[in-house]
Amino acid sequence: MDRFRKQRARMLETQVKARGITDARVLKAMETVPRHLFIDEGLINQAYNDSPLPIGGNQTISQPYIVALMTQALELKGKERVLEIGTGSGYQTAILAELADKVFSIERIAALASQSRKILDRFNYYNVAIMVGDGSYGWREEAPFDAIITTAAAPDVPRYLVEQLAVGGRLVIPTGDRDVQTLYKLTRLSENLNDIKKEDLGGCRFVSLIGESGWKE
Ligand code: SAM
Repeated sequence: MDRFRKQRARMLETQVKARGITDARVLKAMETVPRHLFIDEGLINQAYNDSPLPIGGNQTISQPYIVALMTQALELKGKERVLEIGTGSGYQTAILAELADKVFSIERIAALASQSRKILDRFNYYNVAIMVGDGSYGWREEAPFDAIITTAAAPDVPRYLVEQLAVGGRLVIPTGDRDVQTLYKLTRLSENLNDIKKEDLGGCRFVSLIGESGWKE
């Protein structure tokens, strides 16, 4: 019996549905995945708060609403190949694994990647592959992707990620300066890399993407 089930239901009502998230599959995935098991035991009672939380290495697990907003924007129906940049705690990865066919996730901090691998294996998310490295370059061998999500903020949209997006695919990414950014949804409309529809999903604050298309540490 999951003693946090009620807290998860309340989180969905007050933080996620109340702010306009309607995708039934996203809501179901967030009802299913035990967010409290993806964070340090010492913070377990804050797991369903309306805020990000520290996960070590100066990184954070994103606020539940932001996870919902980004995931809904990816428009996953179940057959997609998804690329995630910034595995972090593995929570967003688990949500993606519930909603898509295959998830490829890149994390630059090896300790976070191995911790995530353990928890994802514990819940039998065998449709997830995790790589340690700089996600700015994407994952060329596994491209194209139907959806790409970047959970760290970049100054601009990394060119490699647009190249690795399938025609019709969605890329959700925060871009801006180091302190404050805008969350964007890009849809690739044709083979032409400039033929992109760009939608503003609102203001946000993410940790920095560190690497080739991001900032220096
Ligand atoms: N989605 C995560 C979760 O549910 O816990 C939260 C991720 S956290 C906001 C952003 C993550 O991006 C951090 O774990 C950070 O180490 C990682 N990161 C930053 N730059 C990166 C890069 N160039 N490649 C891969 N991961 C990167």
